[in-house]
Amino acid sequence: MISGEDIEAFKSMSYPEPYTPVTYSQWVEGKIVTEGQTRLIENTLGLVGEAGEVAEKIKKLLRDDTRFTGDDIIKELGDVVFYATALSNYFKSDLQGILDKNIEKLDSRELRGVIKGSGDNR
Ligand SMILES: [Mg+2]
Repeated sequence: MISGEDIEAFKSMSYPEPYTPVTYSQWVEGKIVTEGQTRLIENTLGLVGEAGEVAEKIKKLLRDDTRFTGDDIIKELGDVVFYATALSNYFKSDLQGILDKNIEKLDSRELRGVIKGSGDNR
């Protein structure tokens, strides 16, 4: 969990190098400019908005044959990861927590033969 001391330390750093999912989460925390419920809403809208930017590039590729580079998509995916990390921090976890839970969930589904299908808790 990220402490207030960690946040202050990372606000003074421009970039944690080398970084890990945990130090990235601390770095993200240093970039957050909202608090409380405003933060929750801003981070959520940011996540959805950035995911929409990824979808928009794919839509324009299909509809208009608009080309983009892998780097263009990677930059947008970085924005998605930023807001996903910000939200995980809000809920007292971090990027490592997201990765761990996702691996655990998908490995479990694969083992139980339910990787296909729908439902959050299958
Ligand atoms: Mg973006």
